Amino acid sequence: RDPMLQTQLHLKILERGCDKSSIEYSRMKTDILVVGAGFAGAVMAERFASRGRSVLVIDKRPHIGGNAFDQFDSAGVLVHQYGPHIFHTNASHVEAYLSRFTEWRKYEHRVLSSVGGSLYPMPINRETINRLYDLSLDEDGVATFLEGVREKRMPIRNSEDLVLNNVGRDLCDKFFRNYTRKQWGLDLSELSPAVAGRIPVRTNDDDRYFTDTFQNMPADGYTRMFERMLDHPNIRVELETDFRDIRHKVAAEKIFYCGPLDAYFDFCYGKLPYRSLSFRHQHLPHVGQHQPVGTINYPNDYEYTRITEFKHLTGQVHAGTSIVYEYPETHGEPYYPVPTTENQALYQSYKKLADAESSTFFIGRLAEYRYYNMDQVVAAALLLSGKLLN
Ligand code: FAD
Ligand code: UDP
Repeated sequence: RDPMLQTQLHLKILERGCDKSSIEYSRMKTDILVVGAGFAGAVMAERFASRGRSVLVIDKRPHIGGNAFDQFDSAGVLVHQYGPHIFHTNASHVEAYLSRFTEWRKYEHRVLSSVGGSLYPMPINRETINRLYDLSLDEDGVATFLEGVREKRMPIRNSEDLVLNNVGRDLCDKFFRNYTRKQWGLDLSELSPAVAGRIPVRTNDDDRYFTDTFQNMPADGYTRMFERMLDHPNIRVELETDFRDIRHKVAAEKIFYCGPLDAYFDFCYGKLPYRSLSFRHQHLPHVGQHQPVGTINYPNDYEYTRITEFKHLTGQVHAGTSIVYEYPETHGEPYYPVPTTENQALYQSYKKLADAESSTFFIGRLAEYRYYNMDQVVAAALLLSGKLLN
């Protein structure tokens, strides 16, 4: 470890639960301060440390990995604490970069949607249409069927336009409208087309949720991968440390901030909406398998949107099984930017302030207010670090 950094940093009291206000940060210096130990922060930390910079990574949570954090539950099943995280990418440089820190296990995610008491492939595909309407169409037949039911919309201004334009009203109401209302607390018509646009419509029998060229899970889990990324002599990680409490006490040449953008600016323009979730984890002892695929969506029933069974994702063999229910919430930990026109305008006001900061860089899903997947966050962080380290 960098001896300078060590002597300056060892002043911090490390015991958990200590009074943070008593921590002596006032003489701290580091080349780089990274706020947030998720994908964005871990990539920035690793890149700068590998180029000889001293890096202090802080996270207010008691663990690294951000929302991709996984751990064994009390029954010994590997679970994702913040909901199912399935890695997929078409970006070979992202795959190559992360492959330095993990082996992979092949996994193609499949989702069924529970409609009227039956389970149908989601994204909508040939089987969905044939079973739902008791038809036996081939691929061309499904294309003709969709052509007949779709409501042409041009321009596509929002997610309702997009879904109606693709599949028409009945499929929209059965599979999209209520799920979206539950997930976002908004109507499809209030959300950017990019939200429902994440879900394709297929005329063939492909029942995979994603079609990316690379679909694999980190073989030993996400947390293990993050441990390897951050295991560098120039990197020091401090958990349960909020940026708010130390921002004026650490001198850093550059700050990479991965938290909510509005919080950084003390909500000066008001709250930037982020959608939250609460997760209800459950272990089912002596149940080999709870459901036939990784995730089942419940668009029209219950308060939760979906149930995920982790053993499908991880391939773990265990006599019992662990599942998670996702309940969308307005208040709580921020998980999703909410892609509406109004929120985008508010984000742009904050972004002007962000752009005016000379040594703080805003990166990741919360700070960039972008509905990023994990691989997109890694790509954005590689791009930014590449520019700054050039
Ligand atoms: P985060 O992982 O959110 O990390 C930000 C970190 O900053 C957090 O650890 C937070 O504690 C910390 N922080 C915030 N404020 C402060 C502060 N003031 N002081 C100190 N620390 C702070 N992507 C996929 O590719 N595939 C999926 O299947 C998938 N599923 C998802 C399911 C759910 C339910 C959710 C919510 C997201 C999912 N994602 C998925 C998206 C994925 O989680 C994100 O793209 C990725 O984790 C974002 O990384 P990040 O580093 O930008 O942010
Ligand atoms: N969606 C839907 N019905 C579904 C699945 C998705 O209406 O069965 C819509 C919904 O608006 C959701 C969006 O498509 O928020 C994106 O879905 P995705 O599964 O990508 O959401 P995430 O995994 O990011 O929560």
